[in-house]
Amino acid sequence: MKLDLTGQRFGQLTVAFRATSNRNNRITMWHCICDCGQEKDVSTCHLRSGHTKSCGRCQTFIDEKNHMARTDCMPLSADI
Ligand SMILES: [Zn+2]
Repeated sequence: MKLDLTGQRFGQLTVAFRATSNRNNRITMWHCICDCGQEKDVSTCHLRSGHTKSCGRCQTFIDEKNHMARTDCMPLSADI
């Protein structure tokens, strides 16, 4: 299996490179960078199914704004 999602976009996530899987070798994880700048490892199935389209923090922000499209999404958490 030579699935390569590097460089592809899924919602606000851009796949940077294949991440190492530390739990289950059968699941391929991809290191993605969100438009808001945060990074997240996402599995192939979650990316391709549309389950995961952002880092998860700014997505909530967008939903609260009645789905207004924003490219400059801001993280919700204050732990930065
Ligand atoms: Zn984000």
